[in-house]
Amino acid sequence: MAVAINATITFEHIASHLEGITSTHIGMVHAVFVGSKKIYKVQSSIDTTKEYTVYRSKSRGYQCNCPSGTHGWWNVTHPSGVCWHVRAAVACALEERKALAEQEQLNTLKQAAGVSYTDVDCATLKRIAERNKKQTPVVTVAPTRQAGFSLLKRA
Ligand SMILES: [Zn+2]
Repeated sequence: MAVAINATITFEHIASHLEGITSTHIGMVHAVFVGSKKIYKVQSSIDTTKEYTVYRSKSRGYQCNCPSGTHGWWNVTHPSGVCWHVRAAVACALEERKALAEQEQLNTLKQAAGVSYTDVDCATLKRIAERNKKQTPVVTVAPTRQAGFSLLKRA
């Protein structure tokens, strides 16, 4: 399935075609902010001193400035219709979203558990938060008659 030349390359389209993208590919990606715009720099797999820029254009969607990307990915046979740089950048963005969601979940759990710092994982913190929701049953013990303790000598 080739992508029509004038089609907007959406995040969803690429995200559904991440087959073949490994953690090694994702490791070659890093996000950079240009002003408030986030772009991705992807190291070339052929020339490690080269980096390509993956960015999003409002009209055309995801783009890459690699030789293939600048010519409309004419030589790409992958079903996504885009180079691996774009796919790795989107895979990286998905990992970032996942990490952010986990961090947010951890923050919510920390708040629920009433802790400001923790080095436990989400699952453990979830258990702590659940435990803290339950009221500790109050055990009433009948008072026992005990002779009072006194330092004074008894007569
Ligand atoms: Zn590219």
